[in-house]
Amino acid sequence: MNREKELEKKIAELEQEIAQLKRKTLGKVEENTIQVPDKMKGLFQVAQNTVGEYFRKIEFDPRRALITVEDERYLLVRASSLSFGFLESIQRLYEDRGQEKALQIGLDFLFDISHVIGIEDAKNFHEKMCVEDPLSKLSAGPIHFAYTGWAFVEILKESNPVPNDGFYLKYRHPYSFEASSWIRAEKKAQKPICIMNAGYSSGWCEQSFGIPLTAVEISCRAQGDEHCTFVMAPPHKISEYIHEKQSSHSYHIPVFLDRKVAEEKLKNAKKKLEQANEMKSLFLANMSHEIRTPMNAIVGFCDLLEDTKLNTEQQNYIRIIKNSSDLLISLIDDLLDMSVIEFGKVKLREVKVDINTVVNQLVQLLQPQFQKKSLHFTYNFLNEAPCVLLGDHVRIQQIFLNLLNNAIKFTPKNGKISLEIFFVDKDDFVVLNAVVEDNGIGIPTNKYKQIFERFSRVDMSFNRSFDGAGLGLAIVKHLVEYMEGSIKVESQEKKGSRFIFHIKLPKISSREEEFVNEIKQELEVPENTSVLIVEDDSTNQKILELILHYHHYKIDIANNGKEAVAKIQQKNYDIVLMDISMPKMNGLDATREIRRLGFSMPIIALTAHVMMKEREKGLSAGMNDYISKPVDKKLLLEKVIYYTNVHKTRDKECGKK
Ligand code: ADP
Repeated sequence: MNREKELEKKIAELEQEIAQLKRKTLGKVEENTIQVPDKMKGLFQVAQNTVGEYFRKIEFDPRRALITVEDERYLLVRASSLSFGFLESIQRLYEDRGQEKALQIGLDFLFDISHVIGIEDAKNFHEKMCVEDPLSKLSAGPIHFAYTGWAFVEILKESNPVPNDGFYLKYRHPYSFEASSWIRAEKKAQKPICIMNAGYSSGWCEQSFGIPLTAVEISCRAQGDEHCTFVMAPPHKISEYIHEKQSSHSYHIPVFLDRKVAEEKLKNAKKKLEQANEMKSLFLANMSHEIRTPMNAIVGFCDLLEDTKLNTEQQNYIRIIKNSSDLLISLIDDLLDMSVIEFGKVKLREVKVDINTVVNQLVQLLQPQFQKKSLHFTYNFLNEAPCVLLGDHVRIQQIFLNLLNNAIKFTPKNGKISLEIFFVDKDDFVVLNAVVEDNGIGIPTNKYKQIFERFSRVDMSFNRSFDGAGLGLAIVKHLVEYMEGSIKVESQEKKGSRFIFHIKLPKISSREEEFVNEIKQELEVPENTSVLIVEDDSTNQKILELILHYHHYKIDIANNGKEAVAKIQQKNYDIVLMDISMPKMNGLDATREIRRLGFSMPIIALTAHVMMKEREKGLSAGMNDYISKPVDKKLLLEKVIYYTNVHKTRDKECGKK
């Protein structure tokens, strides 16, 4: 037992001795840990003693993962992991940016990290040392630097560390851990890489002098130079110093949180761009509104004129007016579409879609154009859709329509156009593949990519032979991509073109199918149907009245939302056609009021605002649907029949009159 106690005592003595020895080797250093010009020596000697004394108290206790000096914890990091190893990893990670850019990303990271560490270490030491003047504050930095293994600092005599714009520090790090890690890995750097040294020292000095500072390494042992030499100065002054001394090189000047500043600039620029885009969209929406309103009158009265007795010449004139109006409207639609699509604001509807019907309707629509140019058109479904699909039939039709319109436009008389469609069944979706082929003028190979850009045509001259704003394919490309597909072209000049695309269409679930079937109604023209037209423009009132009257509807007119609300309370209407912009009470407010009062008849918006946002506003105010102006006669009648049928059937089911 005695022997054991003796042994324990001996061990305790030995431990104490080891601790003392450790302190001696760590703290007591005979030589200076910094080299400075003579005039600064006194000041740095004080720092040397204070910092040396501080590090003499270092303790290692791996059982509790502790490396401490007084009550501060320190970390021991393998130097290469923070230099050569780190940069190699980052370069691999950012390989796609190219070697030089990737290295710069790594260096920027390290600069920012070490700059913050420099600032924080300095704050801590300034408090401990109770120093006030900037140079005394600086003095502990390089010594702390040496004790923590970063670098030995040699301040050169041309330095002028002052707390203003004139701050200039030139120094060397003969034993920089960063340069050593590259030399040890036997790799030669292509540019100076002692970036943590630059970041840390400039962070410490920035904190000491209270002005923003950065440091640039102008020669580096890792790239084969004799010394690792640095210049430190305020960021806006430093290039001046570097170029004065080193005219032949261009150096990267690290600025603290450079990336953050760049990110913020980018964020602001994006915000401004979005605001500008909003303005553009608003402008486009307003312009479209302004153009659509008179167009409404032109198209509407043409429709009505067509139903009167006309001689052949007059019929011809009407046809030309209608064609030109259609062209103008489709141009406005394209411009609007592009502005909505471009900024990712398209919301695709997901409703039950029958591709056969979509294509058949389209073919019927285009028949007159095929005939006019005596084009031989064929279309073929290579297989049937494997199940019921969901999609936005309007947008899908738009894709086909744009491609077929182009084929018609760019194929001479008696040419051939074909459309082929086939489906590929996947787990959750079906891929619709389509090929639109013509034997028209073709497209030069070097224009394949360009034609999908907006406002781009193969023939960009003013006296070109074909009309077109160059928006159709750009819209198609965006829509196809929205539907998670892609489009490409294969063509030979003077031989023809093939546009090949695919889109993904989700499969309908059985519950959704039940729902769709439930609301499916047989369309039949309802008898005794009363319609309230709410519209402030007398021309538009007249057109709507004439169209509906011709089809035996009973019509009442309200000149604004207020009148509409009053009329609805006095009489039962089967349907309301509601303009949006009106004096006294607009269409949205009127609809809200009608719904609030408990009336459930269908309300269809008649809007010259064809922007998606405007449409959504209408729907959320309680409208059932919208028709854009100029009102398409056929569409108007279809919708009126559909909604009045649905409404009447529901009323019957609920036992109402
Ligand atoms: P637009 O037809 O209004 O000019 P698009 O974006 O639809 O605009 O087409 C861009 C250009 O691509 C056309 O101007 C034309 O030069 C070329 N192009 C498109 N489709 C065809 C086609 N089927 N045959 C030949 N050229 C075509």
